[in-house]
Amino acid sequence: MRGNSLMEDVFRFADELGPTKIIHVYEPSVGLKAVLVVDNVARGPAIGGLRMAPDVSTGECFRLARAMTLKNAAADLPHGGGKSVIYGDPKMPKKEKETQIRAFASALRENQEYIFAPDMGTDEECMAWVKDEIGRVVGLPSDFGGIPLDEIGATGWGLSHVTEVALEYCDFDLEGARVVVQGFGAVGKHVARFLTGKGAMLVGVADSRGSIYNPQGLDVVALIELKKAGKSVADYPDGKKLDRDAVIDIECEIWIPAARPDVIDENNVHRLKAKLVIEGANIPITYGAEKYLHEKGVICVPDFIANAGGVICAAMEYQGAGQSAAFQAIEEKVCRNTRLVLEDAATKGILPREAAVDLALQRLKKCMGYRRWSLFSSAPGFV
Ligand code: NAD
Repeated sequence: MRGNSLMEDVFRFADELGPTKIIHVYEPSVGLKAVLVVDNVARGPAIGGLRMAPDVSTGECFRLARAMTLKNAAADLPHGGGKSVIYGDPKMPKKEKETQIRAFASALRENQEYIFAPDMGTDEECMAWVKDEIGRVVGLPSDFGGIPLDEIGATGWGLSHVTEVALEYCDFDLEGARVVVQGFGAVGKHVARFLTGKGAMLVGVADSRGSIYNPQGLDVVALIELKKAGKSVADYPDGKKLDRDAVIDIECEIWIPAARPDVIDENNVHRLKAKLVIEGANIPITYGAEKYLHEKGVICVPDFIANAGGVICAAMEYQGAGQSAAFQAIEEKVCRNTRLVLEDAATKGILPREAAVDLALQRLKKCMGYRRWSLFSSAPGFV
């Protein structure tokens, strides 16, 4: 009986897409406890981040891996989705962190279906250790052949192009459009920089410590300098200082979440006063809130279409491409996908997210059809 319940436990995530493998790694000599979920590899080896955190369940790791499956398929990359987690405090002593990451990479040496990438709690240096151990990694330091995607703003670059395409479905232009950005890190500051460079006006921005608002516009370069100096955007002198979550209430044409998951839900979505929402963060808006926005005529470009710039850049790095080729690929892919998704949503009267999932699944299932084991996909137990 115990065997049965264990089986049920292990397969509780399984559906027609995956996961293909869940590997738990335990190396007591270095205190390593970790998990890898490889979700679906029909399109190629999975690219997905290595997270270091004390409290990520296998279930959450699986959901993050599934999100990568959809994001990579939608972006038409030759990669599947996966995610890995080392259970621990990312601020542990550096030597210990290096040992754990090296031990984890080494344990997965033969697992060709997974390519390491940085995520919360890991960075380019961590990826350099993985490179040294097993070679199969993206997100490397630039002096080790990597493209520094956060530094150059790969995701923000993609988001700015997504915005331009989405404007074809709106009744206002980018020139003079008021933009509000929640979160001013690798994603938020760069999308603000690119959009203001194209004529939009940043009127509100928040970080974890507060918000700042000025209807006449905020200076993005000055805000970036403030952050570099270790201050909050709320310390910007020429604007009205507001509470962190007041950024939701600022009137604007374009609202961009670029901070945390689930920041907009059914309880606060009515406070948004925007015509277009571009999801920079992962899962920043619940399905119910997206539905509410849709019914109000607010276009909301879903996360895995809008914020794919980072992973497209990573995939280009893996192919040996440089920064300009990566930027070109990001622009081409996110523009095409945004247009496909918004067109399909408008034609069928469905949510952009529903159209996006359809697009990703179409691309994924086509590749699954070429797989040797696809002939079993109609077996009982598969939906
Ligand atoms: P980051 O850590 O560089 O920046 C996060 C920013 O959000 C910081 O300015 C922080 O102060 C702020 N913040 C945190 N909590 C907040 C809150 N409650 N309200 C307002 N601001 C808050 O992270 P990032 O790399 O910019 O990533 C942001 C989001 O985008 C995350 O959800 C991440 O998973 C997602 N994402 C990042 C990339 C990428 O290329 N970095 C790609 C795709 C998706």
